[in-house]
Amino acid sequence: MNVLVVGGAGYIGSHCVRELTATGHRPVVVDNLVFGHRAAVAEDVPFYSVNLGNESEIGKILRKEKIELVMHFAAYAYVGESVTDPLKYYFNNLASTLHLLRCMIGSGVKKFVFSSTCATYGIPARMPITEDLPQAPINPYGQTKLDVENALKAFAHAYGLSFAAFRYFNAAGAAEDGTIGEDHDPETHLIPLAIAAATGRRPELAVFGNDYPTPDGTCLRDYVHVDDLSRAHIAVFDKLAAPGAGLFYNLGTGTPTSVLEVLRAIETVTGKKVPHTIAPRRAGDPPALYADPAKARHELGWSIKYPGIEAIVATAWKWHEAHPDGFGK
Ligand code: UDP
Repeated sequence: MNVLVVGGAGYIGSHCVRELTATGHRPVVVDNLVFGHRAAVAEDVPFYSVNLGNESEIGKILRKEKIELVMHFAAYAYVGESVTDPLKYYFNNLASTLHLLRCMIGSGVKKFVFSSTCATYGIPARMPITEDLPQAPINPYGQTKLDVENALKAFAHAYGLSFAAFRYFNAAGAAEDGTIGEDHDPETHLIPLAIAAATGRRPELAVFGNDYPTPDGTCLRDYVHVDDLSRAHIAVFDKLAAPGAGLFYNLGTGTPTSVLEVLRAIETVTGKKVPHTIAPRRAGDPPALYADPAKARHELGWSIKYPGIEAIVATAWKWHEAHPDGFGK
């Protein structure tokens, strides 16, 4: 299929572009390069640096490239910033997506794969998280993702749009060959920050709280390899053939891992100590978030290639070791 990958120069998008090429599809990238990196996408992949608000340009790309399906990764994803500057998030994550969807529907492109998040669940009533749990986001980031999910349901009903929304848990790791990986500015994620502390590129890591009701007192998260995420996006294609299909899947491994376990895995993989201190809890961090991935496994035949934190960290380390300054610096 000809697949438009919006946000294809970002972390998850760029890995998905590779997976599309590897599985015989034809990716076309749209990325305004606010957070994306041109160097994360192969030179021979068609690339357009356009904002989603530019509907006439996006419409032209859909027609020219004969796009059959759109994957949408472009979003701002700093939870704290979404609280202090919600307008930015409503415009970028919600309004931009509506522009994109209006263009698609106007151009007759009716298959859509959306990057949603476990942040739509807020503080879940039980663990592991199944897709049917109530969604009650506790910050504007999660709310804008849920707003898009709800718009998609209405568009499926009204316009015959077929969509899959993937609720990611903690995307982590890098391409197996170490050539592309995570490069955020500013970086806020645990694994790249802890690796940077281990290599002395940053001062010690602050562990946000060790008094949570968890086995070692630090937060439990579900780290899922970025290539495992990518494979689910392609595994869902067949299901989108039916007009009006509306699908929701949690993408996580189902294994909870604590912050201290992540640090230990980094020490094992790199052979270096991760200097760290215990800091106060970070506002808005639930004690535990992990998926029940059974639905994606059963319905998509999704299997996880990187089930353990050490295997995930090993790929992240390969990337960071070879590219200490990330892309193109
Ligand atoms: N974390 C931490 N120190 C940091 C960054 C993150 O202790 O410098 C913790 C954070 O509190 C959470 C886990 O690591 O429990 C994963 O955080 P991250 O920001 O990577 O992802 P999130 O779970 O917020 O999506």
